[in-house]
Amino acid sequence: MKAVTAYIDTTALKNNVRQIRTKVPKAKLIAVVKANAYGHGLYPISSALTDEADAFAVSRISEALSLRTSGVTKPIVLLEGFYNDEDVEDISTYDLYTAVHDLEQVEAIERSNITKPIHVWLKIDVGMHRLGSHDPKEIQTIKERLERCPQVRKPLGLISHLSVADTPSEEQYNLEQIEFFYKIKESLNFTGTCCLANSAGIYRWPKSHTEWVRPGIIMYGISPFANLSGQDLGLTPVMTLKSSLIAIHKLKAGDKVGYGAAFVAREDTTLGIVAAGYGDGYPRTAPNGTPVLVNGRRVPTAGHVCMDMMFVDLGKDSQDKVGDEVVLWGKDLPVEQIAEACGTIPYELVCRIMPRVSVEFN
Ligand SMILES: *Cc1c(COP(=O)(O)O)cnc(C)c1O
Repeated sequence: MKAVTAYIDTTALKNNVRQIRTKVPKAKLIAVVKANAYGHGLYPISSALTDEADAFAVSRISEALSLRTSGVTKPIVLLEGFYNDEDVEDISTYDLYTAVHDLEQVEAIERSNITKPIHVWLKIDVGMHRLGSHDPKEIQTIKERLERCPQVRKPLGLISHLSVADTPSEEQYNLEQIEFFYKIKESLNFTGTCCLANSAGIYRWPKSHTEWVRPGIIMYGISPFANLSGQDLGLTPVMTLKSSLIAIHKLKAGDKVGYGAAFVAREDTTLGIVAAGYGDGYPRTAPNGTPVLVNGRRVPTAGHVCMDMMFVDLGKDSQDKVGDEVVLWGKDLPVEQIAEACGTIPYELVCRIMPRVSVEFN
């Protein structure tokens, strides 16, 4: 009997990428594998995508170095740039591509005594106000400094990130952001490669498609949009999170279940104990009634999720047995539905898979 296993379907992953390519047939694809490939496993996912992706993107230099030292040879992009002077040396040694979003980073590159110039994408702010400048004069200054810098390869790339690409009501703001990107590209004469669209941009904003695109969540078969599932977008979930029933009890109407008695049986029923909890990454915020599949049948959770276990209401006539399979999300139970029940986004749920969960790849 297994406690918790994340089954990772690399065939679905590759098919998703092929499906994504049909939306952006001319673009080169940077597979976003930050945060342990959204909880799916950094190296196995990247190696499965060796022939599918043109480059990889991560957020931490540790992730980039681990990919390089595992033998990944495609370009690896640091989406947030770097934070420490020493990182510049690693970027050069390991031939990484870094975003540069401010003058402090430019100065760190200027100070470095690397001999092999590094690949830089100048990161600008088109409207999110997270990283990068939104001021054309300041962008010009950063650009000129980088261009004068012998430690930097030319021409520079240009990169930015859309803040509301998943929000259809923000049509005007999306168009403004995309327009700002092209305005900077043209007025400041960027001749290098450009990259703007994330998953939502790829599916919904054709104008955001540049030479490079950066899909993340859609590669994993999950929708970036609140009202659509991955399946609606022609995608297949890559992760299926499974557990087992480890105990079964008959309950009488009025019986109180779990910490804080957060579930009270309204009628006689059967309670299943599942060997998965928030210590595995199942969200404790899942309310009573969050769907779970037991023997392929949708049943509701009952009571607070514990660290190592959770409860499901199997119904009065349950024939389920100890050892039976429980699907927490994945094929036949989109993680989008669990996220919605918990008031969060599916990105967070898959990212939070804990190290003790065993992972199996096919
Ligand atoms: C995470 C991230 C992406 C991928 O976003 P998805 O919505 O998962 O496609 C792209 N670009 C940047 C800068 C990111 O941080």
